[in-house]
Amino acid sequence: MRLTFWGTRGSLPKPGPKTLRYGGNTSCVQLVSDSGTLMILDCGTGAHALGQQLLEAPPARGHILVSHTHWDHIQGLPFFKPLFVPGNELDIYGPTGFGESLKEALAGQMQYAYFPVSLDALAAQVRFHDLVEGSFEVGDVLVRTRYLNHTALTLGYRLEVDGVSVVYACDHEPHSKKLATGQGEIGGQDRAHAEFLRDADLVIHDAQYTVSEYPSKAGWGHSTAEYAVRLCRAVGVKRLALTHHDPMREDEDIDRLMSALKTGTEDDRTLEIFPAAEGHSIELTVERAARAKPTSPEASALRVAGTPAGHTLLLGLTKPPEIQTIAEAARADDVDVVECSGVDEILQRCVQVLPSLVMLDGDPAGLDVCQAIRALDDQHARDVPIIMVASEARVAECVTDWLVSPFTVEYARTRMRAWLIRTECRWVRAPLPEDEAARLSALRELGILDTATEERFDRITRLLAAVLDVPVSLLSLVDQDRQWFKSRVGLSVGETSREASFCAHAILESEPLVVSDTLNEDRFADNPLVRDHPHLRFYAGCPVSLPDGHRIGTLCAIDTRPRELTDDQLQLLRDLTAVVEGELSRSG
Ligand SMILES: [Zn+2]
Ligand SMILES: [Zn+2]
Repeated sequence: MRLTFWGTRGSLPKPGPKTLRYGGNTSCVQLVSDSGTLMILDCGTGAHALGQQLLEAPPARGHILVSHTHWDHIQGLPFFKPLFVPGNELDIYGPTGFGESLKEALAGQMQYAYFPVSLDALAAQVRFHDLVEGSFEVGDVLVRTRYLNHTALTLGYRLEVDGVSVVYACDHEPHSKKLATGQGEIGGQDRAHAEFLRDADLVIHDAQYTVSEYPSKAGWGHSTAEYAVRLCRAVGVKRLALTHHDPMREDEDIDRLMSALKTGTEDDRTLEIFPAAEGHSIELTVERAARAKPTSPEASALRVAGTPAGHTLLLGLTKPPEIQTIAEAARADDVDVVECSGVDEILQRCVQVLPSLVMLDGDPAGLDVCQAIRALDDQHARDVPIIMVASEARVAECVTDWLVSPFTVEYARTRMRAWLIRTECRWVRAPLPEDEAARLSALRELGILDTATEERFDRITRLLAAVLDVPVSLLSLVDQDRQWFKSRVGLSVGETSREASFCAHAILESEPLVVSDTLNEDRFADNPLVRDHPHLRFYAGCPVSLPDGHRIGTLCAIDTRPRELTDDQLQLLRDLTAVVEGELSRSG
């Protein structure tokens, strides 16, 4: 596997005579597996030069993993030439928060006020994928994701391919402020972060600050170089590339920092440390034949976070300023807050309201409450994430995580999103059909997308709703990132995202997909369309095929109650779908 640094600067591009050796462009790393899978980690301004190089050998097929949508990680995207070349295929992945997709966030910086070409007008075939924690495969590369500790929802990536593993962890602040300044034990979420790096052949880690600079930068969302070194040494990492260099850090400062870091005992020196330098390329190969086999992948990371509706936060804090900040953060995401005080009330409410999250004071009394919740004879109380709020994280078995005070509303909100997204989401985004590219061009050739309603289709959806006695029926066409409804009964919106689409599942098979009760199926139970409006409980969708076999969408029936379909009703759904197919061939 070959890895190349195209951008190593944090926060702001900083070209000039004093950043010549380590580079002035912001975050971008290229990784190519032995079999040729192209992965790009972040798209800061470094992506421009990478894009130019990729143009030399078109067409490009690649995968861009975005850690988060702060400017220094996406600013190169509008200038990444392969996006403008027809025939190129690019998949862009990144974390999502509640109710906003990666695509929407990226489209923001390409609005007319900032950039002349909109994200929708790119000539290459571009697909967007929303990610949460978990894993997924891209070609021969296994990708694992984990939330980092940053001021925005941010993912770290662990890539395993060709027997080697590389971790990219930008931007990340130590959870423990003590640890950031080189003291204390590695515990809690810092331990979990260290485990994510364990035994990696290369870790590329945020090292924007040093221990002496950190006190005035606490809460800005970045690591100290010393923290990255300490964690990597603790978990057997082989090489560490320090990156996200502060814009104020000149080449000579980086040299000085490196010589200061390279002290230590002989044992410590088994970790090779170097500063990431723009243009630097490394070949990573398997050193020993008998390497540990990669462990089996976790749940799919290719999911979108649901909506905050229905989430309840049980707040058992006593300090008014903290209560206020957290309540404000919860309100911003429409999370319901139940305030309570005293052990008895907290325990009682915990069983009554089934909160998605509990927050308690991190003092010894709070820890007692935490233990009492875990001791309740109630499965929900045993599983619910419990967050302790304190000035320093400590190690305690019963605690899920610590929120270290003082904190801002935005920071509390980011952490809360990560905790809530971690607890939900069993549902799965539909995989792409094998004929996806040809399917999409067949759908577009029909010229039906975004056209006006037509009676010949509306009478079919009306009929379906009437004969099956369902409140909603749709003729849904599955486009690249959305499902668009050519005809709809009982639904006010004209399209919804493909991420949560049931029809995207239905077009994978030639037979109708019938889900009698969405709550009984793992892949649908937490789907946003089930959890939130329109509270879908029943779905029956028959794929609509073109004569050449491409399944472009479905005719579907939806209810808010669980249902069973008789064989006759199922046949009727098939028959009406055949009528739709007949109409479509007439328009062609
Ligand atoms: Zn950054
Ligand atoms: Zn950032």
